Formats: sequence, C-alpha cells, structure tokens
Amino acid sequence: MPDVADRPDVLTLDNFIGGRWVKARTAEFFDVHNPAVGDVIGRTPLSTSADVELAVQAAAQAFPAWRDTPVNARAQVLYKFKGQLEAHFEELARTVTTEHGKTLDEARGSVRRGIECVEVACGAPSLMQGSGLEDISAGIDCHVVRQPLGVVAAIAPFNFPAMVPMWFLPFAIATGNTFVLKPSEQVPLSQRKMVDLLQRCDLPPGVVNLVNGGREVVNAICDHPGIRAVSFVGSTPVARHVYTRATAAGKRAQALGGAKNFVVVMPDADFDRSIGIITESFYGCAGERCLAGSMLIPVGEAHQPARDRLVEAAKALKVGDGMVPGVTMGPVISAPHRERVLGYIDKGVQEGAKLLVDGRAARVEERPNGYFVGPTVFDEVSTKMSIGSEEIFGPVASICPAKTLDEAIALMRSHPNANATSIFTSSGKAAREFAKHATASMVGVNIGVAAPMAYFPFGGAKDSFFGDLKAHGRDGIEFYTDKKVTISRWF
Ligand code: NAD
Repeated sequence: MPDVADRPDVLTLDNFIGGRWVKARTAEFFDVHNPAVGDVIGRTPLSTSADVELAVQAAAQAFPAWRDTPVNARAQVLYKFKGQLEAHFEELARTVTTEHGKTLDEARGSVRRGIECVEVACGAPSLMQGSGLEDISAGIDCHVVRQPLGVVAAIAPFNFPAMVPMWFLPFAIATGNTFVLKPSEQVPLSQRKMVDLLQRCDLPPGVVNLVNGGREVVNAICDHPGIRAVSFVGSTPVARHVYTRATAAGKRAQALGGAKNFVVVMPDADFDRSIGIITESFYGCAGERCLAGSMLIPVGEAHQPARDRLVEAAKALKVGDGMVPGVTMGPVISAPHRERVLGYIDKGVQEGAKLLVDGRAARVEERPNGYFVGPTVFDEVSTKMSIGSEEIFGPVASICPAKTLDEAIALMRSHPNANATSIFTSSGKAAREFAKHATASMVGVNIGVAAPMAYFPFGGAKDSFFGDLKAHGRDGIEFYTDKKVTISRWF
C-alpha cells in the first residue's frame, strides 16, 4: 500500500486565500477518514500562523471595496450562492455523509439548514437598517447606521460540516465584512466544495478565505490584530479558551460550547406520538449533536413507559453506513471518539448504572472497519456519575427518574451546561413552568431537538455559551456590525 500522500484516492487539501487555492506552508497533515468505512479519504494541512497571516492580509485588502459594494449587490452574490448550493445539493449531502458519517437524510437536512442561513442573509438590505430621529434638539437630527467591522473569522466543529460555517459566513459577508474560515480538520471536504461553489458567484477575491488546520490556526486567529471578531463552535473547554484569548486581544467574540441536554417526560405525555421524537433526539446523528438529548428524566409514573418504549425504539434502530438506504444511525466520527464513547459506557457500568441496551458490541458486517457504536440505554443514572454529568457526544441515553417536575427542573438547573432542553407533556401549565425555569436557552415543548431556524438566535447559556450575541438571525447581523451614531446640524 503506498503512503497516503501518494494515493490518488486521497485528496490533499489546500487553503483558499485571495480567491485561489494555495498550498499551506506546512509539512504536517491530519488524516481525514470515512468513518463508515475506516479509510483515509483526505489530508488536512495543519496550517501555521504564516498561513493565517496571508489570509488576513487578503481579507484586509479586499475589505475597502467590499464594504463599499452596495448591500444589495452583496446580497446578489448570496442569491447566486444559494442557486449553486441548490444545484449541488445532493453532491454536498453525500460529501457530508462521506466525511462525517451521518445518514444521507440527516446530511440533507443539515445542508438545507445551511442554505436557510444564506437565504436569511440575503435580507441584509432590510436587516442591516439603522434608525433615525429628527429634531433631537432644535434643528439637530440623529441617525444610526450599521457598519461592518472589517476582517472577521469563524472556527467550526466536526459535527455539522456544511451547516455550522453557514451560521456565520453569509451574515458576515452580507453585512460587508471580509471573512476567514477554519473548518474542523476532521471534516474539511464539505467546506472545500462550498467555497468552490461560492467562487462561481462573482465574489471578489479575498472576501472569503479558508485556512485549514487545528490548534495553531485557532490561536493565530484569536491573536491576530487584524481580525476584529471571532465566532467559535465546539467543546466547552475550547470555547472558553477561544473566548478568553480573543477578547483579551480586544476582539468581539461569540463562542458556542458543549452540551448536556435534559429531556423531561411527564406522565401525561402523549407517549405514542412522542417516543419517535425522543428517540431521534438521543440517537439522531449518532448523538453527535449539540442539541441531542443526553439525560432522559421521566417524572413519576412516566418512568416505566418512557423507559420501555425507549428501549424498544433503540433496539429497532439500524446501524450502518449512512449512505445505505434503510440505515437509521451512522458511525461516530473517528476511532478515538469511538473509544471515548465506549469508555463512557464502561464507566457507566462501573459506577452502578443499569445497562438496558448495550451498544458496545455493535458490528456492521459489510463495514468491518467502521467506527460504529450501537444505541445504548442506561437506567438508574445519577447526575453524580460520569455518564450523568459529562458530555458523551455519542448514542447513549441515560435515564434518571425524578419524583416531581420541580425535581426534574432542579436536576437540569444544577448542570453547568445549558444548551438545549425539552419537555414532553400535554399540560400547558407544566410546559410553561418548565420553559420559564429552564437554564438552557433553546427549549422544546414536545420537540426533541429545539433548533432555532436561521432567522432566530442560536446558542445556549452558562458553560454552553460565552459571549453576548448568538449565532445567526438578528444577533448575527448585530454581531458583525458596529452601530454608528451621527448627530448633525445644518446652518
Ligand atoms: P472541539 O472543541 O474539539 O473543536 C472545535 C474546533 O476547535 C475545531 O476547529 C478544532 O480544530 C479546534 N480545536 C480543538 N482543540 C483545540 C485546542 N486545544 N485549542 C484550539 N483549538 C482547538 O469540538 P469538536 O469535537 O469538533 O465538536 C464537538 C463539540 O462541539 C461538542 O462539545 C458539541 O457540543 C459542540 N458543539 C456545540 C454547538 C453549539 O451550538 N453550542 C454546535 C455544534 C457542536
């Protein structure tokens, strides 16, 4: 077998700087795998701060002309981009499944969500408007306009390769900024395709740049004095690090972190209609979603029906290559991540939780080298156990019964993460109480994955979010612009 660098089926990625794909200035690469197959399919260059420097220079050079480009003309580029994304929709979804592992249907859903962000950002001529007031004093007027910041950057996680970068890129450039993107080194292929498509949309060189890599690129982005704002999505420790480092360097920052999501089921829930939704929350995308259910909290008599139905539904899932029709759960992202998830299942057993469905032995005959973990259910979990307190980011459901709604709310409130949470009930009063006291900022009522659409803010609270303004929607416009107030008098 030749070295991966010499294999024609292994793509070595480049950076996109100043409107061209260019080689990274590094000799170090990260192997990208197809997690369903276990094969290396690409090599991500671990770029250096010198590569970031080139990208920032290109973005800074492009900024004056781009910010002077009328907002409607900027939006036209995004309309064209949407057209390209629609035309290549299936190809993009297949790339997502190939590099990430989620099922093709899940990949399609994520590309659709990415496109919705582009659509919303096309509304920049309306969304970016300011305000004004005549005669704030005799003959004096005041008006407020939103202006772009300059060069801004975004850093993405592995779990939504086509979607998460779109939470930022379209909003940043629609408002007149120029942009540097760092995709996750584990899944760089979807972004390569999307930038290729963007290049066909009359976007001037340097407005969007992409630097592949890992930690060194992230730190260089945080430190670079030419970058005005940083958006980050990933785990809580790195989110905290990026927020602290970027703000210490004087930047505006928003950092979306990890999650431990509590799903409460009341005895009056409509079990027939809810169980599919709850199952999807825990096992969709193999549990690798920041909005995935992780802790199932049945209240009182809901325990037995919720547990039994979840067990039945988990056992019915079909694990396999996400590209194969009929497969309902794909692999996890990598061999190390598989080991990590399996380690949590081992710990759950050691710490005394009751293992009802064990995903450790999952094998897919036609894909013997894939990184599969089967759906797993634990009962009698406490929030003191590792599986009850830490983010697993895999297909593991932990059931932790509570006697009352108040107790369920208290459990959820005691966790340092507060990304998303859901309640299943037919009681408006219980739902209201729950939503009011939830610490998480994304709340589902009979909804398992409370994902705000592109025109609403996306982001959690406590250790799941560092910053003020959240991703996309009006917050996105707000984050990428400064409000300038002009007070004028004419003699
Ligand atoms: P991660 O934190 O490991 O990596 C995220 C990004 O940070 C990547 O681009 C990576 O290259 C970089 N990075 C990793 N370690 C670093 C370090 N030590 N210093 C500097 N940069 C570093 O996250 P991941 O494993 O790619 O993604 C999964 C995590 O993302 C989960 O915790 C999940 O909950 C979270 N997530 C959160 C949201 C949200 O909206 N809150 C959305 C998606 C994913």
